[in-house]
Amino acid sequence: MRLTRLRLLGFKSFVEPSDFLIEPGLTGVVGPNGCGKSNLVEALRWVMGESSHKNLRAAEMDDVIFAGSGGRPGRNSAEVMLTVDNSDRTAPASFNDADVLEISRRIEREKGSQYRINGREVRARDVQLIFADASTGARSPALVRQGQIAELIAAKPQSRRRILEEAAGISGLHSRRHEAELR
Ligand code: ATP
Ligand code: MG
Repeated sequence: MRLTRLRLLGFKSFVEPSDFLIEPGLTGVVGPNGCGKSNLVEALRWVMGESSHKNLRAAEMDDVIFAGSGGRPGRNSAEVMLTVDNSDRTAPASFNDADVLEISRRIEREKGSQYRINGREVRARDVQLIFADASTGARSPALVRQGQIAELIAAKPQSRRRILEEAAGISGLHSRRHEAELR
């Protein structure tokens, strides 16, 4: 699977529809302070199913919605769409009949989030599982947050182990075992 495109609509500072093509080899985003670099990475983690507003520098989940600035009124909804190239057919079986996956998450004030994959409404869990096996996803060590290196150095052995498990691509197995035990 390869992430190929990220579109934002009303997410944090991205009030205007913004469209980013993710070309092979992209490893970083540069720009002046406050231009939205961290917001962009947070949008990526959000659409991949991040469930903790704290991990998105938000006091509550509704705070990811554009709140207004410079005389511009706030919005009541935000949407992020992620395009994934699945031509190598590595997505989980239930979504593996498509070459391209369009994954979207939309939030409306006080109404929570809604996820879709290729237009079909799905659970947050379905989206999270798509990425869990691919050593990527909302909590993936592939996305390095500001200040995360310092946190890693100070972390307890238990949390360091979780990071290693993510990197080794086995956290998908843990999530599936948990799902299976619930059934
Ligand atoms: P730095 O280089 O300092 O790390 P950055 O490029 O990572 O900066 P961000 O933290 O992504 O910048 O963006 C910060 C900006 O986003 C601030 O101006 C902040 O007011 C704005 N912002 C964050 N959340 C919202 C929101 N819900 N509505 C409107 N603007 C927001
Ligand atoms: Mg930043």
